[in-house]
Amino acid sequence: MEKYLSQLNDAQLAPTLQKEGPMIVIAGAGSGKTRVLTYRIAYLMSQGVDAFNILALTFTNKAAREMKARIATIVGESEAKNLWMGTFHSVFAKILRFEADRLGYPSNFTIYDTQDSDKLIASIIKEMNLDKDVYKYKQIRSRISSYKNSLITVKAYFQNPELIEADAMARRPKMGEIYKNYVDRCFKAGVMDFDDLLLKTNELLTRFPDVLAKYQDKFRYILVDEYQDTNHSQYLIVRALSDRFQNICVVGDDAQSIYAFRGANINNILNFQRDYDDVKVFRLEQNYRSTKNIVNAANSIIDKNQTKLDKVVWTANDEGNKIIVNRSLTDGDEGRYVASSIFENKMQNQLQNSDFAVLYRTNAQSRAIEDALRKRDIPYRIYGGLSFYQRKEIKDVLSYLRLIINPADEEALKRVINFPARGIGQTTIDKLIVAANGYNRSIFEVMEHIDKLEININSGTRNKLQDFVTLIKSFQVLNQTANAFELADHVVKASGLIREFNKDATPEGVARMENIEELLNGIKDFVEGQKELADATASLAEFLEDVALATDLDADKGDSNNVALMTIHLAKGLEFPYVYIVGLEEDLFPSAMSMNTRSELEEERRLFYVALTRAEKQAYLTYALSRYRWGKLIDSEPSRFIEEIDDQYLDVITPIEERRFNPMLDADIFGDIEPNKIRFKKPVQPSFKKKGKPVEKLENKTVTTPKNLKPVTQTNSNTNLFDNKLAVGNIVEHMRFGKGEVIKIEGAGGDTKAEIKFDNGGVKKLLLRFAKLKVI
Ligand code: ATP
Ligand code: MG
Repeated sequence: MEKYLSQLNDAQLAPTLQKEGPMIVIAGAGSGKTRVLTYRIAYLMSQGVDAFNILALTFTNKAAREMKARIATIVGESEAKNLWMGTFHSVFAKILRFEADRLGYPSNFTIYDTQDSDKLIASIIKEMNLDKDVYKYKQIRSRISSYKNSLITVKAYFQNPELIEADAMARRPKMGEIYKNYVDRCFKAGVMDFDDLLLKTNELLTRFPDVLAKYQDKFRYILVDEYQDTNHSQYLIVRALSDRFQNICVVGDDAQSIYAFRGANINNILNFQRDYDDVKVFRLEQNYRSTKNIVNAANSIIDKNQTKLDKVVWTANDEGNKIIVNRSLTDGDEGRYVASSIFENKMQNQLQNSDFAVLYRTNAQSRAIEDALRKRDIPYRIYGGLSFYQRKEIKDVLSYLRLIINPADEEALKRVINFPARGIGQTTIDKLIVAANGYNRSIFEVMEHIDKLEININSGTRNKLQDFVTLIKSFQVLNQTANAFELADHVVKASGLIREFNKDATPEGVARMENIEELLNGIKDFVEGQKELADATASLAEFLEDVALATDLDADKGDSNNVALMTIHLAKGLEFPYVYIVGLEEDLFPSAMSMNTRSELEEERRLFYVALTRAEKQAYLTYALSRYRWGKLIDSEPSRFIEEIDDQYLDVITPIEERRFNPMLDADIFGDIEPNKIRFKKPVQPSFKKKGKPVEKLENKTVTTPKNLKPVTQTNSNTNLFDNKLAVGNIVEHMRFGKGEVIKIEGAGGDTKAEIKFDNGGVKKLLLRFAKLKVI
């Protein structure tokens, strides 16, 4: 252990060696919070604390696995195995399974992913004859999710006039009823959704003091990583479990709280000292991850937020290169820039693909990047899209397996009852749903007893339904003796799935077959790993649970040599030598949906802070002047976040595409210089403004968009004045700066600029081609 403790600095050692009592480590990105948590667990174990008594909650299962592996190297494999480690959802799903009967759930309950929840909600809206344009299922789902995460049960909802009123005002007076139906249906189907895993844990711990006492006694030491992103439900669980021994250690960074939109409550970290007595507070200041340039730039960003704890972050690492800012004309050009830059970096610096990450605000942005990487033959992997387990063919197989474990599982049943086709139509299924609701039974039970029930279904169809019941029951019998792999292998054949997918000889069809094979391999691996478990049923249920809670980040074994593509939200806690943050444009990042209040904007800024602090050696910020969004090419302006970074940390370069059109840059003086290497000391963007420096000085004549370049954007006549006459004295409105008066116009055509004195006091010179001005 001594040897390992020497890998910590003094500030990190203090919380690591603090064995007892409530404690919080608040520190900036890359300062070793996760490392402290890991070493602290190893230290506790070396001090005689039993691994069974330690609970560690992480942000991803992958993080938990890595932490466990690290601890195993310190204290030994066999000891580390007994640690309870994982995400809130995966840890408490296990506990709920043990205690399910207390809450009236079967211990073989299955888990609905968001796709399943969406389908059930859509079905309920349809059954209730509601207008699906008013009652949008995705909105309803997120509303239900937020109720659950705030512990607002159906009963609590109907006792809260404010909530009822708010939904009525939002023209959704039936919201409460949908919520009730949804909860009833899930309960009847013996399933929990993701939010239930937390809500029901809370219910379990509050309603049953003996259960609470049992887990308080078990988890004598609790550690939570990324505490700033816990929601209310998670917060209450941690509080309840740690109440007896008060050995609670949380680590986090308020500046990296980025999940408020999903109910995370930054106050959990801010109020920690109020919640427990004698809290020890530790701060870490030294960043080990990034270069000085990156650390300082990140500091300068987060400085702009008003709501924050005072923190110091510095690094002894090298100065490093400046952050490269690149402008492209279109999102396609941006993708090509990123791909060629990765290519060059790889060649020049002997790097692996896995040394690079491309981070974006929204998943949709990955397409242009993917296209460009493919063209360059650079292998990449997208994280956080549709996970492997959510693909159609995989969900089909999993639905059969879910039905074997839990035949009441409504969404699993609906998915495969007529797939492969068995002549059971939607009308029949609708009738079964109505009957199931009427008899207060599951659909499967109705089908089992269809002979004795008065349902208007003809005898031919009744036979088909009974055949399906018989098929599932035969699988259940096999499940008594076969292991999960043997069972799954039989199911894909006997259900007709393989035959169905085999019919499709297109590349997509072949890929589907390969995916199914991959799934079977995965189940085989799982079975191998579970050999010591004699109970095959338990192992299939457990496999399904792992799968339901797996994200594709978890599936990454870390041995793949791919460029990583993911949203910034997903990148939290990770690190990469080279990081490209793309799409840094107003309305995209910060997102148009997050600019209504200061707190929303501050969350976007924290997101940018998280993004930049993932980089170890080199960060790139890129943006495009126009981009396809929702099928339309729209103009964009550089993100305010680029402007917010102190100039001294930036290196603004001119992209290759611009050079192509620029007579100055095409001149001989640049000879054979690689276009990507042409650097300009000063920012050149049309609306690139820096405090205290007039814009004119920053304009570099050699690189402004030349006149002969046709605008690549579709102009929107009332927002773009490229062709319009704008006169001195006009009052205009700018999306971001507000109202102002035109005081000067210069240039012509695509280069026309207007100097505008805005009501907020600022004077800005804007290139009309890109400024979204409205004359008023
Ligand atoms: P984040 O806020 O992004 O989650 P963090 O505070 O959890 O970051 P870690 O991921 O624990 O930081 O550490 C950042 C990097 O610095 C890791 O690569 C880690 O191994 C390294 N590191 C941390 N402490 C030390 C140390 N004392 N000596 C050497 N390297 C260290
Ligand atoms: Mg961390």
